[in-house]
Amino acid sequence: MKYVLVTGGVVSGLGKGVTASSIGLLLKACGLRVTSIKIDPYLNTDAGTMSPFEHGEVFVLDDGGEVDLDLGNYERFLDIKLTRDNNITTGKIYQYVIDKERRGDYLGKTVQVVPHITDAIQEWIERVAKVPVDGQEGPADVCVIELGGTIGDIESMPFIEALGQFSYRVGPGNFCLIHVSLVPVLNVVGEQKTKPTQHSVRGLRRLGLTPNILACRSTKALEENVKGKLAQFCHVPAENIVTLYDVPNIWHIPLLLKDQKAHEAILKGLNLLGVAREPELKEWTARTKVFDKLHIPVTIAMVGKYTGLSDSYLSVLKALLHASVACHRKLIVKWVAASELEDVAAEEAPDVYKAAWDCLKGADGVLVPGGFGDRGVQGKILAAKYAREKNVPFLGICLGMQIAVIEFARSVLGLHDADSTEFDPETTNPCVIFMPEGSKTHMGGTMRLGSRRTYFNVSACTSAKLYGNVSFVDERHRHRYEVNPNIISHLENAGLSFVGRDETGQRMEIVELPSHPFFVGVQFHPEFKSRPGKPSALFLGLIAAACGRLETVLHDNGHVKRSVSNGMSNGHTMVRMCKNGGTMKSANGSVNGVYRNGNGVHLEGN
Ligand code: GLN
Repeated sequence: MKYVLVTGGVVSGLGKGVTASSIGLLLKACGLRVTSIKIDPYLNTDAGTMSPFEHGEVFVLDDGGEVDLDLGNYERFLDIKLTRDNNITTGKIYQYVIDKERRGDYLGKTVQVVPHITDAIQEWIERVAKVPVDGQEGPADVCVIELGGTIGDIESMPFIEALGQFSYRVGPGNFCLIHVSLVPVLNVVGEQKTKPTQHSVRGLRRLGLTPNILACRSTKALEENVKGKLAQFCHVPAENIVTLYDVPNIWHIPLLLKDQKAHEAILKGLNLLGVAREPELKEWTARTKVFDKLHIPVTIAMVGKYTGLSDSYLSVLKALLHASVACHRKLIVKWVAASELEDVAAEEAPDVYKAAWDCLKGADGVLVPGGFGDRGVQGKILAAKYAREKNVPFLGICLGMQIAVIEFARSVLGLHDADSTEFDPETTNPCVIFMPEGSKTHMGGTMRLGSRRTYFNVSACTSAKLYGNVSFVDERHRHRYEVNPNIISHLENAGLSFVGRDETGQRMEIVELPSHPFFVGVQFHPEFKSRPGKPSALFLGLIAAACGRLETVLHDNGHVKRSVSNGMSNGHTMVRMCKNGGTMKSANGSVNGVYRNGNGVHLEGN
């Protein structure tokens, strides 16, 4: 096993995660099997308890691990499936060591950061690196380890010490350190400044780690004399210094690294030059070019809690993007704060209320993502009602499905107090109820998390067709509440159709409104398994419906039959279909791929 460690210096937010994922992709393109580990030096044992509005979304894995969103970048770029242990946190390591201490495993010794915590970190890395994540047997060839935070942070010290020992133990030729740093440009003189990078490399060396490669973030490519200076002061050969300059979208990063021959420097550092082939990124390059040139817009209203942090819904945005690129449309996301659609807003802030409704009404499709708590629920219900009544394409995810069902029960069945017991525990019409999988008396751990199977009980439904006419799909879950099985027959008699259920038939997984052009709600989160070039089936459905192409997609998809689906197996077929289907216009503009909406939130590739 060979290891690539990616560290960050100078400032946070340099795109270390994207750089590490791109390095993984580049190595994969060289014919190597790649896995990855993300180290988060915070004390939380996992990201499950962290607010997505502060920290970005909680990414969910097949095994139910609630992890840092960077693991989503790895899964999307490398098309792999990671496990919860691929995300190491300080909390997990200390918990492991303290549990051992309580069992008496340390035989009376004083338990210390060095060697007990540092040993535990190294054992963890070696154990997890061996777990295959690409569907093939046996361990990968290379493990990319990303160390969160910035060199010099107090909380990452035990990890740096452990990684220093680790690099010495696995030896040269098996370990390659890539330091991602910043080369700022001072506006007055326009000069690229190397001093911050020099200091951060010095910091690394002081802690016992020597960088093999420098990846410098800067607005433009580094000038030769700047590279020379960095080489001299940081003791890194100039050919091992690459610039990550500003690009229209992040799909360019692997290409940028390839053009600067980063793979050669890494392969040399890992003694793999003779083993690996020249990187093969034809498909990736073609898709990136398509993305760059998209100009026909498709507008999706995202009705959620207001957030200035687009990372809170990162995977949903990526899934929308994958589907839009497949349909050759430029994605415009309009954020609609659900609470601004509510009647109270009309009285308290009429301008805001009008702007929110104008935004919703101007969209080609509506998406209500998952969420917890009752803020904005009434507004989300109003958005679902609008989409249902006006035949606007609608996708409700998790909470989004639950509110769509509540809306239908209220408006169509006339059950005015229909609600989820999450929001109104006393409601006389509990439409959505707490249905734990395990014991109802067991405290804690009641969330239904990770991959579960959904069986289609109506094979002619839109969702089954979008998934490629399969009999079941496996998708990831993260919820406590579910549609009440006791009211299903009433809802179905009134026209709502529960087309996908779990193996017991008691848990509703997919709901559709057959009388509507595209109205789908899912209890699971299809966004977590969407990949560039393999868009999630339901996101593709939403985007295709939003640009008036759903029939074409369903028709062409009808020719694709598969016995087993992993929920994302049909992407390539659909991309081809969109390109050649005759009804899609080919893109020929020169608009770049960074999109900004009214709130200044921008959306990139990946
Ligand atoms: N709050 C809802 C539940 O727990 C929905 C969760 C979600 O959207 N992820 O069931």
